[in-house]
Amino acid sequence: MRSKIVAGNWKMNKNLAETEALLTELAAKLPDTEAEVMVAPTYVNLSGAIRTLEGSAIQVIAQNMHFADSGAYTGEISADMLIHIRIDTVILGHSERRAYFGEDDEILAKKVGTALEKNMRVMFCFGEELEDRKSGNHFSVVEAQLKNALFDLPSSAWGNIILAYEPVWAIGTGETASPEQAQEMHAFIRKTIAEAYDTAIANQVSVLYGGSVKPSNAEEIFSKPDVDGGLIGGASLVADDFVAIIKAI
Ligand code: PEP
Repeated sequence: MRSKIVAGNWKMNKNLAETEALLTELAAKLPDTEAEVMVAPTYVNLSGAIRTLEGSAIQVIAQNMHFADSGAYTGEISADMLIHIRIDTVILGHSERRAYFGEDDEILAKKVGTALEKNMRVMFCFGEELEDRKSGNHFSVVEAQLKNALFDLPSSAWGNIILAYEPVWAIGTGETASPEQAQEMHAFIRKTIAEAYDTAIANQVSVLYGGSVKPSNAEEIFSKPDVDGGLIGGASLVADDFVAIIKAI
């Protein structure tokens, strides 16, 4: 179902005490909103985050998972482990996983498949590099990322997919795609899905924008018709900034 979503990706930041402190502040300041609000702390703090947020509308989600059910994969975690602690949504395909941990479309297709098989929701991240945009290849790069990881899925799987378009050149750089650039790409994403599936699926999937969203630019980006919210990195680590971004939706 297409819903508004604001999600915070905390990456490798905050120890347990800091996680609990930030979540307690966030929960106290959470405004009334039609949006789903999500936070993705690091693995070791997921259970603590869930305990801290007991009774709050803020959802705890994971930053990553492995595609295998269990086994000899040192340092990894499985979908079942997440489900066991009541996590039902996982971010997959973040540009930092692709760039630093060798996650390619093939691996991501497997991860997406496992998560959906387990009935989890997937927040699938994708987006072009700066050279792709400079050379005018950004649409074809995004189309290929979607096709390679998602377009073998049956139509029925799309109810559990959330898309997060994150141009790599805008992540953690302070450089934001203009609201027009975001809208243009989000409309292209829906058109690509409509061609591969149908317009009903294209219109029901939530498409978030990510890349240096902050209180000063959130409202304009979120006002675009094909932008359903944001995946927020740096600004989600400061309660007042994240709250201001939630209010902007
Ligand atoms: C991200 O890492 O998903 C992200 C969007 O980061 P930032 O908001 O810091 O650019």
